[in-house]
Amino acid sequence: MQRVKPAIVAHRGASAYLPESTLPAKALAVAQGADYVEHDIVMTRDNELLVNHDLWLDEVSDVAERFPGRAREDGHFYVIDFDLEEILTLGVSSRFRVVDGDVLPVWPDRYPVWQGRFGFHTFEEELQFLAGIEHSTGRRVGIFTELKSPWFHEREGGDLAAAVYDVLGRYGYRTAADGCRVMSFDPQALRHIREEIAPRTGITVPLTQLIGRTADQEVFERLPSGEWVNYDVDWMRDPTRVGALAEWADGIGPDIAMLLDQADAGGLRVNDLASAAQAAGMYVTPWTLRADALPPGADSYGEVFDLLARDALVDAVITDFPDLAEACRTAS
Ligand code: CA
Repeated sequence: MQRVKPAIVAHRGASAYLPESTLPAKALAVAQGADYVEHDIVMTRDNELLVNHDLWLDEVSDVAERFPGRAREDGHFYVIDFDLEEILTLGVSSRFRVVDGDVLPVWPDRYPVWQGRFGFHTFEEELQFLAGIEHSTGRRVGIFTELKSPWFHEREGGDLAAAVYDVLGRYGYRTAADGCRVMSFDPQALRHIREEIAPRTGITVPLTQLIGRTADQEVFERLPSGEWVNYDVDWMRDPTRVGALAEWADGIGPDIAMLLDQADAGGLRVNDLASAAQAAGMYVTPWTLRADALPPGADSYGEVFDLLARDALVDAVITDFPDLAEACRTAS
């Protein structure tokens, strides 16, 4: 039987080469062979949908200089505390952190910090941009749409999933054939979609349960008392329990390292997590393959790509380097 090769998903665009999440990064991803672009969606104070990985603006923009005094107690400038009009005036950079007043690149060998002029854009602007590229190139470009911390938006009074589905419906993303998958670390949000939003809207795009680590505190849930507590997600990567996710998810999105073990003979081997999910009828789309941050024990990008494609039989590989993935896929 001819094995289907994995789709290539550009993580925040070709983010190894241009500032993450920006439209130029999305354009380069398509040029480098990506079948899908991945994006993270966050809501603004005026209920607009922004493409941005973080809940805050300060690690990729000049918000701290432009709007001093607008940070929360934790020092972050939250998207949900700004109107879209304000956010669209900000400059955007490759990811940085500020240490003792010095601006340091998070990825020193990638596109330089504060070089060139980039800006934020909305979810709708991204869909329009991709539709334009589809028109001009004749290629299909799908989307992996991540709902960023729906629980946080609920706590702040917004329904992120409902807002995203409103846009998806208006742009013609309705079924699996339309090239869209919706992802989240938050299982309550996926259940909310499966049980309420999908039946109401008739939008049946596949749902991916992203699998993180409880210690990373990606997901919180509200107790009946009203208190928000860290939700335990560590059980999701247990091969004997992962099948339970099929109740609300069509596939899983684990960290690549969760699929790999150290082999007795040295090197890496694929463990039972991917096959257990597939046995439960789910696809597997791991994140994030990076040549400059390989999983522990890996020697090369190609080694990991081949393990995922040949041994784990993943449906898609999410990567910062779509060009390298395309080269591996062509060679395999
Ligand atoms: Ca993401």
